[in-house]
Formats: sequence, C-alpha cells, structure tokens
Amino acid sequence: MDCIACGKDAQIVLRTLQLRTMHVRGLTGEDKYQVPDDAVREYGVCRECAEKWLREGGTAGGRAVRKYILFGILFCAGIVLSVVFRGSGHVLMMPAAAAVFAGAAGLVSAFRGSAEEKKRISAMPLEEALREAAFQVFLEKAPKEMEEGQWKLTYIPVNEKTLSTKPGDLTVIYDIQPAVAKEVMLKIGHPQA
Ligand SMILES: [Zn+2]
Repeated sequence: MDCIACGKDAQIVLRTLQLRTMHVRGLTGEDKYQVPDDAVREYGVCRECAEKWLREGGTAGGRAVRKYILFGILFCAGIVLSVVFRGSGHVLMMPAAAAVFAGAAGLVSAFRGSAEEKKRISAMPLEEALREAAFQVFLEKAPKEMEEGQWKLTYIPVNEKTLSTKPGDLTVIYDIQPAVAKEVMLKIGHPQA
C-alpha cells in the first residue's frame, strides 16, 4: 500500500469509516442527515510522514497553514483599512476594527488548536503516537466534502481505542446521529453493536 501523503511504501495501515453529513433546512429548523460509507476502508501512511507530523505538529500540514493564511489576511486587511481610514470616521472603520479582532482571535485559536493536539499526541508511547500522527496525516489529505460542499465528510478511526469506547460516547465524539448509530457500530465491528 502507498502512503497517502508521499506515495512511498506505507508501513502504517489505517482503517476508517467515512461518514457523510448533509444539513437540511426544514420547517422546524435545521436537520442533519447522515450516511455511513459502504464499508471500512484502509489507507496507508509511511513512518516518515507520521514522524514528520510528530516533529512539526501538523503545522506544516495543509489545514493549519490555510487557517493561518486566512486569519492572517483578515488581520492585515483590517490593520490596513484602519490606518487608511484613521480619524476619518469612514463607514469602513467598524468592519476594519472587527476584522482586526476576528483575525487575531482566529490566529490565536488556530495556534492553540494545533499546539494542544501536538501535546496530547506527544504524551503517548511512540508507536501509539505514530499511529495517531498517521491518522492526522490522513485527515489532512482526505477529502472534506463532496458534491460541491453538499456533504461534509468525517472519518471515524477504526482501531482498538474506538472499539473499546462505548457506543454512546462515540456518537458524541464523532457527532453520529441516533438514526445511523446502530449501522455505524455494526460497520466498524463494535463489540456492543
Ligand atoms: Zn509518506
């Protein structure tokens, strides 16, 4: 099996069940509609990519970088607008100030999020940490949506940890709707399904 990130030989094989979620706006508010994939699928990640993720904490990964760029642009644009319109009482002063705050808050939360994830994973024994890191590498490469964003995709890792977590807790952790919880547990082979 090839590494999903670099294409080289993968030493770590991950099993995961994809869950599609669609938000449907109805008369009673917003409803969620979920469909689990046909079966658990396997993906490969090489040790090198997992180790790299552990060293860099995923900050070099696509998702974190995109967040930094997005909030960075917002922050800078806010600053530029604030300076340009300073003291003029221009109508754009309020949105400019809001952009500065939103950008700064976003940068701080993006940084904290990846730092906490790294800390949590670094505290594990090496082999376990590598598998967790491999899953993060997979998440960074895996598609996040399909059919032009109609469906959001999430991935449930199928491993010892998942299978020893109570179904009720899994539905909370992975936001699984009660209507499909049973089907999901059967598909991942949960002993309490
Ligand atoms: Zn690799």
